[in-house]
Amino acid sequence: MRFASLGSGSRGNATLVSHKRTTLLVDCGFSAKETEKRLQRLNVNADALTAIVITHEHSDHINGVRVLARKYKLPVYATAGTASCLSADVKALIAEFSSHESFAINDIEINPFPVPHDAREPSQFVFNSGKHSLGLLTDVGMSTPVIEQALSGCDALLLEANHDMEMLDNSIYPEHLKYRVSGRLGHLNNVQSSKLLEKIDTSHLQHIIAMHLSEKNNSPNIVAPLFSQALNCDESWIGIASQNSGFDWRELD
Ligand SMILES: [Zn+2]
Ligand SMILES: [Zn+2]
Repeated sequence: MRFASLGSGSRGNATLVSHKRTTLLVDCGFSAKETEKRLQRLNVNADALTAIVITHEHSDHINGVRVLARKYKLPVYATAGTASCLSADVKALIAEFSSHESFAINDIEINPFPVPHDAREPSQFVFNSGKHSLGLLTDVGMSTPVIEQALSGCDALLLEANHDMEMLDNSIYPEHLKYRVSGRLGHLNNVQSSKLLEKIDTSHLQHIIAMHLSEKNNSPNIVAPLFSQALNCDESWIGIASQNSGFDWRELD
């Protein structure tokens, strides 16, 4: 199984997960045109995609879904709550899933789990190839036992490290936005993410990548040392997904 990111952050998110002849686009927060361009950078043609899988309906995760899904006739996997927020002309393409039940899209098994976030019915995922598992967790205000159980023992983790608390506190964000971002239905800060890493089984981990970093209220220079401390590993081993270029293909073996 291999995976890559087209970009990660509040201006757009999209992740690729690929195994054998199945390639999933997880979220599509860029315009369809921009998504096609970014896919090309990773040597993927949009017509080679198998499906789009959506975590939740916030625009930085669904901006390009409607146009891309219709253009390439891609099935769109979403929970009922997320699906209810998508435009009517994409409804025919929707395949609903329950965030409590595993399902497969061709060669990839998907284990969704519900997360606390200010959306209708948000979920995040562990992708399984039969041999390896890849956990994805972004857009979540706090950790829960369900999350910790789901992410324990994964071979790779894409984990939100949204903001540095002090930087957010001192930022020019209006109070209500600070409250939203740092709240229990907002986003994980660096310390919360590090604590999560310390708590779960990371003994199989081949890749760790920090995701959804705030461009204004965070910095890779803060995240990398914290994650390396939590995992007791070299700082250079910590991957960081950027807003502009995400990260290049990585492989599990
Ligand atoms: Zn987001
Ligand atoms: Zn969100």
